[in-house]
Amino acid sequence: MNLLALVEFARLITHNYTVIMKPFIYHPKPISKLRENYNRRRREGKDGFGSLNEFIMWYSAQDKKCHYCEIEEKTVQELVCSGYLVSKRFPSDHRLTRGRSRGVWLELDRKNPLGLYSEENCVLCCYFCNNDKSDIFTEEEYRSFRNNRDTYLNELLERKRQK
Ligand SMILES: [Zn+2]
Repeated sequence: MNLLALVEFARLITHNYTVIMKPFIYHPKPISKLRENYNRRRREGKDGFGSLNEFIMWYSAQDKKCHYCEIEEKTVQELVCSGYLVSKRFPSDHRLTRGRSRGVWLELDRKNPLGLYSEENCVLCCYFCNNDKSDIFTEEEYRSFRNNRDTYLNELLERKRQK
């Protein structure tokens, strides 16, 4: 692990969770949230990282930009926290409350949606790409779909028909 990742790891452990984001200041994802997410995946039998510590080490070392569209976490965070884009899943009036924190941080996407959440199978991606990819596409399929939806879907149908 490089020095930057170590610094990020230390910051995550000591970071306090602030719920009011006004005026906009970028807030990296707090350790409490990472732990909550990790524990949920573990309970559901979907964890492949092995331990919370392993997961946080991996998370710390990741660039905080979307694997698919390359938008930075802080850009999406500003869009949703400042109310420039509105959804009932986004924070309201700069307040992060239960059920209204989508878009604030990059999300964990499984390259293969049928596999576990593991180092090999996970990337960070933005709310928009995650919603779009859903559990429908693998990483590779989603790249083709993003590239040209119409062509991808028509070719897919054509291939299925020929079988
Ligand atoms: Zn994206």
